[in-house]
Amino acid sequence: MTDQTTDAAMLWTAPGWQADTGFQVDVAGRVLEREATEPTASTEWIVPGIPNLHSHAFQRAMAGMAERQTNAEDSFWTWRETMYRIAARFDPETLHAVAAQLYVEMLEAGYTTVCEFHYLHHAPDGTAYDDRAAMSHALIAAARETGIRLTLLPVLYMSGGFDGRDLSERQRRFGHGVDTYLELLDTLRAEEDDRLRIGCALHSLRAVPADAMREVLSTLPAGTPRHIHIAEQVGEVQDCLALRDARPVEWLLSHADVDAHWTLVHATHLNGGEVQGIANSGATVAICPTTEANLGDGLFPLKAYLDAGGALGIGSDAQSSVSPIEELRWLEYGQRLVTHHRNIAVQAASSSVGETLLRRTLASGANATGQPVGKLSPGHCADWLVLDTDAAQFAGMTTIDAIDRWIFSGNRNLVRDVYVGGKQVVSEGRHHDRDAIAVQYRKAIQILLAK
Ligand SMILES: [Zn+2]
Repeated sequence: MTDQTTDAAMLWTAPGWQADTGFQVDVAGRVLEREATEPTASTEWIVPGIPNLHSHAFQRAMAGMAERQTNAEDSFWTWRETMYRIAARFDPETLHAVAAQLYVEMLEAGYTTVCEFHYLHHAPDGTAYDDRAAMSHALIAAARETGIRLTLLPVLYMSGGFDGRDLSERQRRFGHGVDTYLELLDTLRAEEDDRLRIGCALHSLRAVPADAMREVLSTLPAGTPRHIHIAEQVGEVQDCLALRDARPVEWLLSHADVDAHWTLVHATHLNGGEVQGIANSGATVAICPTTEANLGDGLFPLKAYLDAGGALGIGSDAQSSVSPIEELRWLEYGQRLVTHHRNIAVQAASSSVGETLLRRTLASGANATGQPVGKLSPGHCADWLVLDTDAAQFAGMTTIDAIDRWIFSGNRNLVRDVYVGGKQVVSEGRHHDRDAIAVQYRKAIQILLAK
């Protein structure tokens, strides 16, 4: 194999569109500086692949199955009971099949890297599988089969609440002690490669006692991505205030060295000091607007956070939507609905909402995933999307409005081709293995629903 050259009529870079350019890709799937060549005849508009900062793959199997009212007080906490029922039915084979289907859908939608926040570790009764990493291996196999770049975040989950109570019966398969958790990280780190990075996730402050958090963090190699669910629910903020005398983000900022390697998932409920504190720390906030809407979580203070200079990305989380377009749209729309204004997410660099949100999303990728993704610059991962510029939504487009049209016009998928590590995985909107993977997915769903 030799280096390959990709030409672009337009290439999206951090400052904006660049005309008649391109890049080379080395055999390892990284971008090389382009050698000077004649202007090309390419008609392709190329955008770096989108990082998905938060995913629970198994939840793809229950999307759309928790939308009937069970009582008038339905909330995140009643949804969680449904989620636990589904979670209890998985084994490594069904997890592999569901994750592969999900990753095909992600790639076709334009996500090229996924951060998998993985807590389904053991058999349903809590006993470890013979291969203690069997469920992690199922996710790794699904990523390799589909070609998506994976940052696997095995989750430390130890207690059922801030008071340190034991895990409930349904939570038992999620649990680890510190020692077995660190062994799992060691096992998995030995399997890292060009497309697989192992990070660390603390499920939440309510599920990880303070001393265990300190012990795990003290062992992590420098640069390891660290993710945590931080302030998704008002009830969680109240419990933290009652038992730790601080709000979750406040507590974390004063008890851990939170820096650019941290990703705070669902930093939904924040006061002004917390907004500034996260922004100053360099941590990334992972917002999952369609999941947060689906679960009735609340609305992230986007404008204040952007004004404070905070880093931000998106995640598909519970998979009720697998579309970066829909996440970015709702990130903005939520703000419009409560402020009664339009075009909220803009910054000095651009008056375009789409460009502002895309820039932030791409810029979050490298720190949150621990992999050099999010831009097509030398040394970075050669992960890119080719937009379907023949689509009606793009008729007469210019560099001024192309990104906004991509994000804010209709529901036809405007991602035509997708490449990860320089290898094409989606052509004309279809993943190369879509049909065979869908067959396995249908079989897995039959098994899961029959249990
Ligand atoms: Zn989550």
